[in-house]
Amino acid sequence: MKILIFSDVHGNLEAFESVLEDADRSGYEFALSLGDHVGYGANPNECIQAFAGLSKYAAIRGNHDAAALDPDERLHFNADAYAAIVHTARNLSEESREFLENLPLIYDSNRAFMGVHSSPNEPASWGYILDALEATNAFRCMYRPIAFTGHSHIPCIIAEEGDVRPLHHGDEIKIDVEHKCIINVGSVGQPRDRDPKAAYVFFDDTEKILTFRRVEYDWNRAALKILNSGLPPSLAKRIILGL
Ligand code: ZN
Repeated sequence: MKILIFSDVHGNLEAFESVLEDADRSGYEFALSLGDHVGYGANPNECIQAFAGLSKYAAIRGNHDAAALDPDERLHFNADAYAAIVHTARNLSEESREFLENLPLIYDSNRAFMGVHSSPNEPASWGYILDALEATNAFRCMYRPIAFTGHSHIPCIIAEEGDVRPLHHGDEIKIDVEHKCIINVGSVGQPRDRDPKAAYVFFDDTEKILTFRRVEYDWNRAALKILNSGLPPSLAKRIILGL
């Protein structure tokens, strides 16, 4: 089965629609969103509504999804993220709130992979996998060979042996499921690897082939909407720069 997997849409409708259009051209059977549907961007409700147009999908919870509903989840947010999530929470529709409330922390495919927003070992603590120790703990808790994640907005594959391989547009990689790996799919709505293009992957779970893609979208329009909606101006600048 060919699966579309993406993360960190962050209320960026222009980026999300471009990803869905690009993915439609190749075709896929199932879509999986790894969380952070809202926060930072100007269109949280519209992004959540866009899921209604997908025929088969699953979605899990990210820290911004949790923080939109629960002020206690905002305690470690920086000033811009905090201002954005307060703004988002104020503007969420009843339907969006319900969508976010029902998101589980982990997706289990019953096949070769699982999905989690941050880390397989402590999915509700929103830790980043930044060093070998955190990666070791994460691998220990994985009950599938592959864990798809988002959260850092930096696309890469972390192998159990310790190698970290950045992902680039057009990469097609055969995944060896005899060994564990963590695949960070990057971010749709706020890439942070100095490339503003929206990121996503396809995973063929029969052939075990990962395809990584970047898509141009109208980031000027998305940035203008951020400015006009009263969100922190730095959030507009960073999507144009990919930071
Ligand atoms: Zn995020």
